[in-house]
Amino acid sequence: MSLSQFRLDGKVALITGGNRGIGLATAQLFAEAGARCMLTARSETDDSRALTETGEHAFHAADITDPAAPDELVEATLKRFGRFDILVNNAGVADGGDFHDFDDARLARIMDTNLIAPFRVARSAVRPMLAQSSGAIVNIGSISGYVANKPQLQVAYNSSKAAIHQMTSVMAFEYAARGIRVNALAPGYIRTRMAIDGMEDPDMSKVWADNTPMGRFGTPEEMANCVLFLASDAASFVTGATLVADGGYITH
Ligand code: NDP
Repeated sequence: MSLSQFRLDGKVALITGGNRGIGLATAQLFAEAGARCMLTARSETDDSRALTETGEHAFHAADITDPAAPDELVEATLKRFGRFDILVNNAGVADGGDFHDFDDARLARIMDTNLIAPFRVARSAVRPMLAQSSGAIVNIGSISGYVANKPQLQVAYNSSKAAIHQMTSVMAFEYAARGIRVNALAPGYIRTRMAIDGMEDPDMSKVWADNTPMGRFGTPEEMANCVLFLASDAASFVTGATLVADGGYITH
């Protein structure tokens, strides 16, 4: 028993969507916890550059929906750091609108980014983890995987996140005896670019806050704390779980 189990010293993590929001906050906390991080997104930001400029961490640009990207990312991580311990499967996009008008192009974008790509990245990541008989995967789901959002309509997004929760559960079952833990985080409304338009719209923001028993939105840093726990040895008996971090949103 030791607090050091919450640290990630010597571990290597790949974090998708690592240039901003929840992914960047996770990378920053992982770095503080002793991990070396490979960040990925389509392009770097000043904030992610501040982390990678130290030389301890790296950035590999990729469109996660490119079928070749997952293997490339895992290979780049192994080449740079020599091992692969943690995947944070975080990149995602949101889109909404009436179900009966939701066209195929938008459906494909949501499913390709939020479900097919995380499936492929996890598949690529499991291979080196199997070889070393250890690893931890944290998939970023959502409260939208459990409930309908109010007031905005976003059935494709919600479906993709429900699938991520189930992928987490079944992957955990498949790899539990082979040293690989697979968990998910289901955030509520978090102050990032994805949600900022709604948070700045007084009507929508009020509905979101009123439906959150804590009466406020979460921060990327609060999500990073949860991801760190799930990724660390402190969660050594936790697999197949979806940790809900939503200020109480889905309690009612
Ligand atoms: P952001 O919009 O800030 O971050 C999304 C990240 O995903 C960016 O780094 C973006 O990079 C990356 N991304 C999106 N599309 C692609 C792509 N095709 N290829 C590579 N990277 C891509 O939002 P959040 O930080 O909030 O989102 C992180 C995760 O948290 C998502 O899975 C989201 O669904 C989930 N979530 C967020 C909630 C919230 O309220 N904010 C609530 C519940 C879940 P770039 O576009 O630069 O390539």
